[in-house]
Amino acid sequence: MQSSDLMQLSATFGCPLYVYDANKIEFQYNRLTAAFAKVERLRINYAVKALSSISVLKLIHSFGANIDTVSIQEVLLGLQAGFKPEQIIFTPNGVSFEEIEEVATMGVQINIDNLSILEHFGTKYPNVPVCIRINPHVMAGGNENISVGHIDSKFGISIYQIPHVLRIIENTKMHINGIHMHTGSDILDIEVFLYAAEILFETAKHFSTLDFLDFGSGFKVPYKKGDIETNIEELGRKLTKRFNQFEKEYGRPLTLAFEPGKFLVSESGNFLAKVNVVKQTTSTVFAGVDTGFNHLIRPMLYGAQHQIENISNLKGKERFYTVVGYICETDTFATNRRIHEIKEGDVLCFKNAGAYCFSMASNYNSRLKPAEVLWKDGKGHLIRKRETITDLLANQIEIEI
Ligand SMILES: *Cc1c(COP(=O)(O)O)cnc(C)c1O
Repeated sequence: MQSSDLMQLSATFGCPLYVYDANKIEFQYNRLTAAFAKVERLRINYAVKALSSISVLKLIHSFGANIDTVSIQEVLLGLQAGFKPEQIIFTPNGVSFEEIEEVATMGVQINIDNLSILEHFGTKYPNVPVCIRINPHVMAGGNENISVGHIDSKFGISIYQIPHVLRIIENTKMHINGIHMHTGSDILDIEVFLYAAEILFETAKHFSTLDFLDFGSGFKVPYKKGDIETNIEELGRKLTKRFNQFEKEYGRPLTLAFEPGKFLVSESGNFLAKVNVVKQTTSTVFAGVDTGFNHLIRPMLYGAQHQIENISNLKGKERFYTVVGYICETDTFATNRRIHEIKEGDVLCFKNAGAYCFSMASNYNSRLKPAEVLWKDGKGHLIRKRETITDLLANQIEIEI
């Protein structure tokens, strides 16, 4: 889609506004499946937490994908979007036994990441197949918030605890049908991914009844010029070869599964905000927009650098700006960023706003959550209305005081 389409949508639906390009999501999905075309049984489980709007889930369902969920509410959204229970995997961390039990009862594949629940579940439901999430202890990049496979991580069962896992299986006679790892969203190069994959293969050899190996995600997409991007085609060639070889050794048909979130939806997203004020100070020029970390928290939470374009003035002279939000707290989107000259009223577009943007939005400062539009077949479809004051009050109970 073009910047002029985005300008048009901002005029029709107002700002702030999330816009997702359905073609881009489909393109990424096709890229991923093409890279692994030589794997006989491939399963893509879209990580719902990246962007969980129901129409986006329906779009992804239409490609034939499956989903990865981390809460029972995501499971329910998935069912609502048309996914069958057998198309859903539940990979929670730190949730209650009752929640896992309830999801398993729906017929959803569960993935357990600690020994305590594994033993409890195996004792109660020896016949329900379970996947186990291991921690391969591979450090994926330097960002602790998004690297989840390192030694101090709360995720997964340590590979050093496999003897205990085997004892639980022996004692309970439970059935393990899959092994999973997810090392986080910051895998820097393919060699690290392949190294972690070897650990998964080694672990898999301890289990004789597996149907699938789930390699999680961690694919990087570029946020700014010069960023590292996972070369999915190269990973596809290398991992396919190794997987097919392992499958032969293993002697049972195996499915190769992935759970991409960011890879599928990040680049499809554009977040449009209007400039409320241009403020010259002694040290910089601030561009203050009609949004803040209540709608887009990644720059503040992860130091993410979303590219920002002034789509009202694409041909203007470039100047340096610090782009900030309207929240009464520091909420800097970008510091000293070169952007085409900004006037009050201009519309700025934040790129890569598909993954972990709307899904992390809040009502802080009693602001309303933005509307969302899905751009499909050359047309913008409103998929979520902008909130109103009624939404803010919806669950509140005013007592007599
Ligand atoms: C968040 C998450 C993903 C998706 O990670 P991306 O970096 O968005 O691809 C996959 N698997 C699990 C278990 C997750 O928690």
